[in-house]
Amino acid sequence: MKILVTGGAGYIGSTAVSILLDRGFDVNVIDDCSTGYAASVDSRATFFQKSILEPAALDYALQGCDAVMHFAAKSLVGESVVKPEIYWETNAYGSRLLLNAMRRNGVEKLVFSSTAATYGDSKENPITENSATSPTNPYGASKLAVDYMISAQSTAYGLSAASLRYFNVAGALKTENGWLAEKHNPETHLIPNLLRSTPESPMKIFGTDWPTPDGTCIRDYIHVVDLIEAHIKALENLTPGRHEIINLGSGGGYSVKEVLAAAEKVLGRSIPAIATDRRAGDPAVLVADISKARAVLGWQPERSLQSMVSDAWESF
Ligand code: UDP
Repeated sequence: MKILVTGGAGYIGSTAVSILLDRGFDVNVIDDCSTGYAASVDSRATFFQKSILEPAALDYALQGCDAVMHFAAKSLVGESVVKPEIYWETNAYGSRLLLNAMRRNGVEKLVFSSTAATYGDSKENPITENSATSPTNPYGASKLAVDYMISAQSTAYGLSAASLRYFNVAGALKTENGWLAEKHNPETHLIPNLLRSTPESPMKIFGTDWPTPDGTCIRDYIHVVDLIEAHIKALENLTPGRHEIINLGSGGGYSVKEVLAAAEKVLGRSIPAIATDRRAGDPAVLVADISKARAVLGWQPERSLQSMVSDAWESF
């Protein structure tokens, strides 16, 4: 089976490429390397360094493919607020062009990288797939628009699809050619920032007055390898003409202070940290209900917060 992985040079996409190849899938990759790295693309894959905004490139990359895993996207919440047009163009319009190209080329299976940001500041925790979607930024809104597009494509044309709504992805994958890890620039995520913290430039805890037991925000962290295992199970469980929406997290939450403590344990030393004001747009608690993933995919996360932190640390 041959899979087109869009965004296969990014953190999550490149991890998917490597694991798919290890499992015996053939893989094509399309990525313009605007935020990804060509060196992260496994050399066993066929790599098209092109944008998903080019229909001819999509036609080329889809040749011989049976399915698509669609990761190519802009994914910085803050950037999406100040430059929304990029998010509507790459995420929404890029996905529209991909769906058109899939139809033109007779490719009828899709696994899409959606996000918990589609739920916004949820009133419900844990969040189920039936919780209200109310994104609070253009990033989440553009991903939700794609979920709607995919549902319509399934109803109208029989596309078999799964939208996987990620909570907080962390960790890294060790391959024969080194680590595949988060390399965002600028880096905004908690775990890389913790590992990078120094006395001169301590990590900031964004708010200690949240309505949580220790006053810091709670998030649901999932190891990138567990996440990709779920993608493969989603691909194997697609139903013709159906679009499943499935949350992916660990089903439990950790506060910023708990993640800090886990990182200090991995490093065997204290990590410099200072409390600052809340970050705009942060909800207090985001935790996934993952019962649907367990039931529909027969999947469950295997890797602990400790291993997410230690893999991220080793990959540095
Ligand atoms: N966070 C923090 N300091 C940082 C980065 C993040 O305190 O340097 C907090 C952030 O406010 C949130 C949690 O850590 O509560 C996870 O943030 P991240 O940016 O990793 O992911 P998000 O939940 O925004 O997708």
